Amino acid sequence: MAHLVINEEDYIRRYGPSLNYTPESGWKTEQADRLVKTHCCFCGVQCGIQLKVKNDRIIGFEPWEEFPVNQGKLCPKGIKRYLQNEHPDRLKNPLIRCESGFRSAEWEEAMERTVTAIQSIQSRYGKDAFAFLGGASMTNEKAYLNGKFARLALETSNIDYNGRLCMVSAGAANKMAFGIDRSANPWSDIPKAEVVLLAGTNLSECFPVLTEHVWKARDNGGKIIVIDPRMTPIARTCDLFLPVRPGTDSALVNGILHIMILEGWVDEDFIRNHTNGFDRVRESVHSWTPARTQQVTGVPAANIVKAAELWGNARTSILLHARGIEHHTNGVDNVLNYINLVLTTGRIGREGCGYGTITGQGNGQGGREHGQRCNQLPGGRDINDAKHRNEIADFWGVSESELPGEGLTACEIIDAIEDGKIKGLLSISFNPLVSIPDSRRTKAALEKLEFFACIDFFLSETGRHADVIFAGSLQAEDEGTVTTGEGRCIHLPNSIPPPGNARVDWKIICELAERLGKGQFFDFRKSEEIFTELCAASKGGPIDYSGMNYQKLEEDFGIFWPCPNSNHSGTPRLFEDRCFFFPDGKARFHGIDHRGPAEEVDADYPIYLTTGRVVSQYLSGNQTRRIGDLVDQYPKPLCEMHPKLADRLGILDAEEIRVVTRRGTMLVPAQIVRTIRPDTVFIPYHWPGKQSANQLTNRVLDPISKIPEFKVCACRLEKIHDEPKKEVPS
Ligand code: SF4
Repeated sequence: MAHLVINEEDYIRRYGPSLNYTPESGWKTEQADRLVKTHCCFCGVQCGIQLKVKNDRIIGFEPWEEFPVNQGKLCPKGIKRYLQNEHPDRLKNPLIRCESGFRSAEWEEAMERTVTAIQSIQSRYGKDAFAFLGGASMTNEKAYLNGKFARLALETSNIDYNGRLCMVSAGAANKMAFGIDRSANPWSDIPKAEVVLLAGTNLSECFPVLTEHVWKARDNGGKIIVIDPRMTPIARTCDLFLPVRPGTDSALVNGILHIMILEGWVDEDFIRNHTNGFDRVRESVHSWTPARTQQVTGVPAANIVKAAELWGNARTSILLHARGIEHHTNGVDNVLNYINLVLTTGRIGREGCGYGTITGQGNGQGGREHGQRCNQLPGGRDINDAKHRNEIADFWGVSESELPGEGLTACEIIDAIEDGKIKGLLSISFNPLVSIPDSRRTKAALEKLEFFACIDFFLSETGRHADVIFAGSLQAEDEGTVTTGEGRCIHLPNSIPPPGNARVDWKIICELAERLGKGQFFDFRKSEEIFTELCAASKGGPIDYSGMNYQKLEEDFGIFWPCPNSNHSGTPRLFEDRCFFFPDGKARFHGIDHRGPAEEVDADYPIYLTTGRVVSQYLSGNQTRRIGDLVDQYPKPLCEMHPKLADRLGILDAEEIRVVTRRGTMLVPAQIVRTIRPDTVFIPYHWPGKQSANQLTNRVLDPISKIPEFKVCACRLEKIHDEPKKEVPS
């Protein structure tokens, strides 16, 4: 019997050597000795899945139909995630840089070298000269531990996380408008909405399982509105598509609000009784007639009016958004203006009525709640608030003056390394070389570090610049909790131990703290003890988990925060009492004066470049670029462009072209599609080096959230073998 479907080398490249195929015995079916009910390790939907485990190895998966969010369904990434644990690239020992690259090392040497470097750098340059970068794919426990480690063990103010590249515009706007940073509704409200407005979310590729919730709304008679420069898969099934010019969302919302106010499609009672600041909105939208809005946004005036009519007259509605409106220098303004749309109608805090931010990373919500942000302490507290500082100092048993102040954000940390102000870095599950704009500058910064240590499960492109690499843990190799995009905290059981000499991440952090002389603050024997401390620390804070424990999370398919005491069952839907999280209980409107992108198109760079994801890859690709079937689905970046643009420039489908911005140049094949604006091209960002879209993007930041402008910059396209042709946007 012939077993070889693909050759061995190809198989091992794809899956690792030890799943269901060996050269000796061919394909075989293994019986699991246990099934572990857990969750997907990728996006913020956190679909339930059962991992098949045999002899402490993950050998497959089965659906978990009972978990209410996905009821057994998974997207391509979720289906293939089980293949990563046995991958041959999995780090199993600490690595130390040597002349020929890296060599395996004992933990003792890796630890000692790191602690010596931290102490040396801090004694010569000060505590803030050593920085920490965390991640939003990690558990709540690790997010809490990262913040505590930076403040108490490293004593540095410079800690931030890769959510700074992701959800921070929404986080800032949510707090400014509602006083709380959480989606207002459970996903189960989506099918009950008469109108679902999706703004800047490529839902079907980035959060595929949520698509069904939206389609259920449509099956129930609801209407779907999609706002995006690209006709993404979900837009192809919607009722009204508004192909907004990149960087002009807030102008478009002003245009919609202009019509709603003119026509009286507003809830005056709600505005009067439950909000502040609507007059400023009236003022800021006054001049945004449909004609002016069409001119700025490129959306036909008739469709702006249609959107206002649909949204304005609905009885129930949900507005969902993602990075498409947030990855801008006016990202906070964009989110605030979409919230204005929700508040104007008063449709929030009821079944089928509300608002949500769809989180891109697995713990995009929880990762931003527990103190690993540069301006935040546990429980969502503000590091600049004296009361909050005292509460956490008391809880940790230190004096308030010992807590560092607000530090630099993620991109600012990279800039400070480039400037020589930060000399040392410890990073965990963060791949800034691929994920931060203007990657040439990131590379130059990494090369300037006196010392760089990483904790990771695979050697990332950033890790290749490290002096020490600690072999950490994949999601299935540790226990913990994450909080999904709907605000539901869920438990992840430990499925298998880390392989070889790899260790769970939190134990690495705790040992470093011990060696830095701060072990008394990090005396944890299991993840549950960290969660118990995290919950207690959050008590009385803006983000209150104090009524949660692992058992409760298991029993109820998770718990929505706030959950302020042990008898509380959580809060799936916020604002049901029409009370917002400000002293006067009222939500706040913010009038938005539209600002364009930091870099406008001109004669030299006449085309908008926007970036994003594809369904088969996840963020910087450090995990998904190692899973063969996902690679095969979309093996390298392509540059999407409209046939009109391609015709004007004489570009053929699949022809390799040069994309040029003020930051860099990239060679990439053209993909000619009708689903994008003719003045815009799109490149996905999951690849490193010469395939990295972030060679091109603009590192300019939103002034409030400090998120970079991934979603718009100016570029030109050049045929490689012809003279470059200049293009003027229509
Ligand atoms: Fe995983 Fe998100 Fe796909 Fe669900 S939708 S399987 S959580 S990547």
